[in-house]
Amino acid sequence: MTQILIIGGGFGGLAAANELRQNLPYDVKITIIDKKDYFMMDLVKLWIIKGTRKFETSKKPLSTITKKGIDFVNEKVTLIDTSQKKVKTPTKEFSYDYLVLAAGVELAPERIPGLSENGMILYDLEDVQKIRQKILDMKSGKIAFAITGMPYKCPPAPFEAALIINSMLQEIGTQKNISIDFYSLGPITLPAAGPEVSKQLLDILESENIKFHGSHKTVSVEQNTLKFEDGSIANFDLLISVPPHRAPQIVYDAGFAQEGTFISVKRDCKTQFDKVYAVGDVTNMMATEKIAVPKAGIFAEGQGIAVAQDIVSQIRNEKTSSVFAGRGGCFVEMGATAGYVYVDMFAEPNPITRLDKPAPEHMEEKEQFEKERIEKWL
Ligand SMILES: Cc1cc2nc3c(=O)[nH]c(=O)nc-3n(C[C@H](O)[C@H](O)[C@H](O)COP(=O)(O)OP(=O)(O)OC[C@H]3O[C@@H](n4cnc5c(N)ncnc54)[C@H](O)[C@@H]3O)c2cc1C
Repeated sequence: MTQILIIGGGFGGLAAANELRQNLPYDVKITIIDKKDYFMMDLVKLWIIKGTRKFETSKKPLSTITKKGIDFVNEKVTLIDTSQKKVKTPTKEFSYDYLVLAAGVELAPERIPGLSENGMILYDLEDVQKIRQKILDMKSGKIAFAITGMPYKCPPAPFEAALIINSMLQEIGTQKNISIDFYSLGPITLPAAGPEVSKQLLDILESENIKFHGSHKTVSVEQNTLKFEDGSIANFDLLISVPPHRAPQIVYDAGFAQEGTFISVKRDCKTQFDKVYAVGDVTNMMATEKIAVPKAGIFAEGQGIAVAQDIVSQIRNEKTSSVFAGRGGCFVEMGATAGYVYVDMFAEPNPITRLDKPAPEHMEEKEQFEKERIEKWL
């Protein structure tokens, strides 16, 4: 029996598993291994801050995938042995014919001294629930956003968070007494989307009185104070940060990438190891010499589907191969409306990016984006 193992039941892993199951007979075994027992899109974290969603009612059990004939193992992978084609968890060992590594990223706030101790981490599930309460309780003062590492997941997400919080403050009536400053180590708002889209986003931020400070690399955080590489400082009453990201430890232990980096892949998502693919946030896929494919669910999904199609054609002994198309986009939510950043990463001669104006329709499309995928995948 052919065994396909997928490490990670997130965007990339679920998209790959479904595409494989739809195209392969049941004598091919497909297994997802995930240390979590549920799937929840990260974008829901913004809705938890906004108060329109709760974690408990937004998470979907990964075990429901077994109804489709996809096995699910709820354990942490502790070792990948590419020479023996085996994967280990604390209690089990699996052999594979094909392996898809879709393990995403881990947050590494410890790389910036004082970051977790003195502020909230925007991408942390526990902290988003606390951020909401802090915003509701705040009467006046300074909110600072800080992007402290690159690349990070979903480049527009921290800006969305700032705009959502701004609209919450407007609703509560405290906006006139609370300032929002945004510090990023990048020189412009969305370096991966280019100067034009970055300027459009900057204009939106400025129209809401949110001040963007580019090229501010946070080196440490003390109580109520951000310290930057150039020696300058900024004071805050509430800090909301995006911490540096790293790949899961199994990636470094198995030699896929050097400590602190991500798995380098081309558009076919093949790694240096036989029949082992890597998709999604765990990878670094360069679109040009300088621009990498952003870490976003829509791209992890596209890569997962491309890899699944490649595996299907190999199992069927077809001579075709599939590569990642590189097209997609992210919503930029601003409260009741949303903009949409469209991206074609491999367009010739250069990637194309475009920011569609904020509109209520894009907000509805964002809600549909989540709903459709959950219905399709689980
Ligand atoms: C606030 C926020 C908003 C976002 N909004 C959007 C958006 O609007 N659109 C969009 O496209 N993207 C968005 N993203 C980005 C998107 O969530 C990620 O890019 C996407 O989840 C990446 O998919 P992935 O499959 O690579 O990894 P993930 O979805 O993170 O899945 C990785 C899985 O691997 C598992 N895993 C890791 N290590 C192990 C191990 N050792 N053993 C077993 N399992 C393991 C994890 O538990 C996890 O379930 C947003 C992100 C954030 C933080």
